[in-house]
Amino acid sequence: MSRSPLRHSTTPVRIGDVAMGGDAPIVVQSMTNTDTADVAATVRQTLELADAGSELVRITVNSEEAAKAVPEIRQALDAAGCGVPLIGDFHFNGHTLLERVPACAEALAKYRINPGNVGKGEQGDRRFSAMIETACRHDKAVRIGVNWGSMDQALVARMMDDNARSAEPKSNDEMIRRIMIASALESAARAEALGLGRDRIVLSCKMSGVQDLIAVYSDLAAQCDYALHLGLTEAGMGSKGIVSSTAALAVLLQQGIGDTIRVSLTPEPGAPRTGEVKVAREILQSMGLRSFMPEVIACPGCGRTTSDYFQRLAQEIEGYLGERMPGWRQSYPGVEAMKVAVMGCVVNGPGESKHADIGISLPGTGEIPMAPVYEDGGKTVTLKGDGIAAEFKAILEAYVARRFGG
Ligand code: SF4
Repeated sequence: MSRSPLRHSTTPVRIGDVAMGGDAPIVVQSMTNTDTADVAATVRQTLELADAGSELVRITVNSEEAAKAVPEIRQALDAAGCGVPLIGDFHFNGHTLLERVPACAEALAKYRINPGNVGKGEQGDRRFSAMIETACRHDKAVRIGVNWGSMDQALVARMMDDNARSAEPKSNDEMIRRIMIASALESAARAEALGLGRDRIVLSCKMSGVQDLIAVYSDLAAQCDYALHLGLTEAGMGSKGIVSSTAALAVLLQQGIGDTIRVSLTPEPGAPRTGEVKVAREILQSMGLRSFMPEVIACPGCGRTTSDYFQRLAQEIEGYLGERMPGWRQSYPGVEAMKVAVMGCVVNGPGESKHADIGISLPGTGEIPMAPVYEDGGKTVTLKGDGIAAEFKAILEAYVARRFGG
């Protein structure tokens, strides 16, 4: 599968070994929540995120201890066979840390700079320049990451004053969007003037409201062709965070806007950090923009199903696909795009199973206790009895070998 042809960014950016923008696939990224100075904990969580499918991992670099830990983290990841590029998240003191710890500057693949958090006036300009010059010296990419919770206050004052004096003042919401975009574009222009190539620049303008985010990125994309990092900031917990992020990102991705995504979920207490990576991948896969895992198509069930058997079978098949994928990925290229239907009765079961690559239609209430299996649109066998799950998995295994085994 390929991403939407309606492309916004035309400038490819390289982050370590990962390509972004231009014709590259949309990149999934995430961020650790460990104290970066704690090397073991940060390495552990970075490995978890990378194993879950995060193609870039951002880490906070907020102190000299954290900066000194970065090269150790890089070495430990390399030693573990994990080449995931690391992004350093800098605020307030990034210029000092990058200057004092050159090994940190070198170990990172990209620096995230928030123009609202580098300082005011000439001091802020000097700090911003110092970080960009460091990026140029080490040949690193930079994300100029504007966040509406931390906007450049001098720019806010200037643009708000101009708006107040204008004959037709814009609304507050529109001005916030305009200020964020101006901050991103003016900073990018300064970075280019300092020698950072366009192929080293990624922009973001994060907001926490769905409609605000869609509006600001639509406007930003209309004004530039830089690679864009998409994410709804502070999306929240649980289904609210997932739904809000999906709603906002889907609208933008469908317009070809966005080259890398991060889903900023607050994990439930005790829940793994990797949940945000799973959601990001599922957004891209459900939109047909990338394929990571075979997809199980299961009906929701209704009054025609008297037991939860088909739900349990769908879950079992989903688990089986997850177990088998590490091996299948190596042996059977393309298997990640496979669709497997597990349906609850004869109403939609056969039809949905025929549309999938392989599917099973279980018997509903009052139906003959038999489960026809369909492969590539045709019925191949009918299963019955207590061993349906095991038999269907064996059929699935043989199908994958035959269809994707070259
Ligand atoms: S396929 Fe059958 S069991 Fe599933 S939702 Fe439709 S009618 Fe109900």
